[in-house]
Amino acid sequence: MLKPTRLLLLGAPGSGKGTISRKLLNRFPQLKSISSGDVLRSHILRGTKIGVEAEKCLKTGTLVPDSTMVSLISEQLRDLDGLSSKANWLLDGFPRTFSQAQKLTEILDKNQCNLNVVVELNVDQNIILHRIESRYVHLPSGRIYSLDYNPPKVPFKDDITGEDLVKREDDNAAVFKKRLDKYNEEIVPLREYYQKLGIWHEVAGITSDIIYPKVEKLLLT
Ligand code: ATP
Ligand code: MG
Repeated sequence: MLKPTRLLLLGAPGSGKGTISRKLLNRFPQLKSISSGDVLRSHILRGTKIGVEAEKCLKTGTLVPDSTMVSLISEQLRDLDGLSSKANWLLDGFPRTFSQAQKLTEILDKNQCNLNVVVELNVDQNIILHRIESRYVHLPSGRIYSLDYNPPKVPFKDDITGEDLVKREDDNAAVFKKRLDKYNEEIVPLREYYQKLGIWHEVAGITSDIIYPKVEKLLLT
């Protein structure tokens, strides 16, 4: 990876964006990642004003308003020196509406650091509900475990800190269905937008072990 990489990971809830991000960060230490869901959950944990507002949306599987998301993520990008032409980063979960994508393009264009690769993870949607139901997270770090194929060393404890793992409030069948429907609706114009910009790629597979090498290869070419 010689040229600066600014990557957007798209994919349905439970398609493995978080897992792929973690693997990419291990492989390419110059990358920094921003996960919009993790940023929101951190606000909720800290009880900030944004957190209080966002919690209602997360619980019910509806989207946080675009304006809130745009300012939150641009602030994160600034904080990690992401707004320069040499910056390397990956975004997970933002932008996820057409309007967010347009706003992000404006901000990045101004700073000559626009996205150069968009990867949509394509995982069979019949598989991911089961995955979501067996998923546990360490909220402070965003580390993800699966009771089935990536269990923690000690049951329900984070491998690194030993702290408790929890289930996300939105990782249940009813809310998941809403998140998935919303995703399938929003992805259509978003995909078209990035296809027109000529930076969209799709990577398909059943598990992250199959998908990850394909994503890595895209970044190396
Ligand atoms: P997964 O984490 O399994 O990939 P996901 O992509 O649905 O699933 P998160 O990205 O963690 O989950 O987002 C959780 C919730 O946070 C969303 O359901 C939504 O309420 C809110 N959210 C996250 N990113 C955005 C965004 N860009 N715009 C609006 N709301 C968002
Ligand atoms: Mg996620």
